[in-house]
Amino acid sequence: MNLCDLKTIKNILGAFKVRLKKEYGQNFLTDRSVVEEIADNCCYDADSVILEVGPGIGVLTYELALRFKKVIALEIDDTLMPILNYTLGEFDNVEVLNQDVMKTDLDSLLAPYFESGKVSVCANLPYYITTPILMKILESRLPFETVTVMVQEEVADRLCAVAGKSDYGAITAVLGYYGTTEKLFSVPADRFVPAPKVNSAVVRITLHKVCPYHPKDEALMFRTIKAAFEQRRKTLSNALSNGFPELTKEQITQVIERCGHLADIRGEKLSTAQFCDLSDALYEILN
Ligand code: SAM
Repeated sequence: MNLCDLKTIKNILGAFKVRLKKEYGQNFLTDRSVVEEIADNCCYDADSVILEVGPGIGVLTYELALRFKKVIALEIDDTLMPILNYTLGEFDNVEVLNQDVMKTDLDSLLAPYFESGKVSVCANLPYYITTPILMKILESRLPFETVTVMVQEEVADRLCAVAGKSDYGAITAVLGYYGTTEKLFSVPADRFVPAPKVNSAVVRITLHKVCPYHPKDEALMFRTIKAAFEQRRKTLSNALSNGFPELTKEQITQVIERCGHLADIRGEKLSTAQFCDLSDALYEILN
């Protein structure tokens, strides 16, 4: 059964009387080479357990099951469950759960697998909820090896941007705290059914085994990043003045200069390490 073949997809959906749901971001992959490339590059160790978000009709799940020890797939749409039973029936290393990833306790679900080995994430993410899913996975602080996701290309460029470039934003600086991010390849919109309006790209985040940053107050570091990008067109000192109303403009300017930056620098120039230093300097005057 070729789950990338348009006719096969239509036949399966018809046989199970299932319609594609836009509200769940259901754009299914129809290019086998793309599916294989994602599965080949998502993780370095065949002995790994893979958490997949949104298996759809199982096209990527199938390739993951061929390559890895176990796949746990979370699918929100209950009407897809009988289809997944059918398309993945031959595997005894696949567990499909009818669950919303945003409401899933990942810690409890994956604890046994972390105890006995390596776990990675692989997903063609639903675009309506890309960032919340990504942040939920990273903020869980579970020791995933890699998190490989297909997202809109524009989002991929933002996730992988370098400090100082126009794509660089709060999410880039935050991601840098959790791991190293690479854009693996682009995927044209016509490789999906239905075709989304924009192209996509696959991004792999390799999580830091030991975090290279040691902020005095992690929450303060995230607050600093958020404040710096809240008003993008403002200078860092103006943006931080809004984000830290408990400090005077002079105090903020002093902190920025003490960290070795010009007073009129903009937030998008600062790397994750520099945000960490900045938040440590803010910590000193706030405590
Ligand atoms: N993996 C399939 C593929 O590559 O063709 C389908 C990917 S499709 C872009 C996204 C999938 O995520 C859909 O099957 C959708 O129903 C599912 N989904 C959407 N929101 C979800 C959520 N909150 N939790 C789990 N699955 C979700």
